[in-house]
Amino acid sequence: MSKWQEEKAERNRQATARLARSLPAIFPSAVLARALNRSFIPPTPRLAIDSYWRAHPFRADRLARGLATRSGAPAGWTWRLGDGRESGLPLTFRTPPAPYRERAYALGPGFCCVCGQPVYRFGWHIDLWGTGANKNANWHSACVIAWQFWNAPSSEAPFLRRLQARRCGQTGKRLWKRAEVDHRVPLFRVWSEHREASWPRLLAYWGLPNLQVINRDVHAAKCAIEARDRRAASFRYV
Ligand SMILES: [Zn+2]
Repeated sequence: MSKWQEEKAERNRQATARLARSLPAIFPSAVLARALNRSFIPPTPRLAIDSYWRAHPFRADRLARGLATRSGAPAGWTWRLGDGRESGLPLTFRTPPAPYRERAYALGPGFCCVCGQPVYRFGWHIDLWGTGANKNANWHSACVIAWQFWNAPSSEAPFLRRLQARRCGQTGKRLWKRAEVDHRVPLFRVWSEHREASWPRLLAYWGLPNLQVINRDVHAAKCAIEARDRRAASFRYV
């Protein structure tokens, strides 16, 4: 065994011991199974849960939208853009609408700012431990990953490529190395044509249902057509 392998094995022994010490009697079995299979074992339950969602961005996306459906939009809320800072309103239509991140509708400690549902121990979305909402948290661990995915879907390109069996989402041809992630319905169109859709149904435009990987030349052509349509609609670009 090389020195590096020995160090890694020792580090994992320590991490496993630390995890075992801090693990509650009840813990999601899929999360634990994944944690123990990692090449670097996460040393705390919280890190085990974060690592689980990081490995399953599509599951996180679906869960976050499902949780948001339970909350629904606050009464009187509409999708608006703003100055960001004070109001919490998004600066551009590229940011997914999230009413509970807005100052006027924030639910406060213990509630997730993305989906509006209570956050429990370790950022989990179900109260497996009967301890009630975690007043120090305002993000579900899954919603952190979903939010990152919605804002930067290109970072999950390898997952999307695999999902499409490495075929271009637009032409069905083999995907090239430099293929790009594309919103089937472009976000400017979501803002200009679907703005009145109910929340959180809107979020599906940022999630997996509206994403595809397409070859670069196809993407460039699609963007050119979209730009022409946008000009034709004399849309005020934000
Ligand atoms: Zn959430």
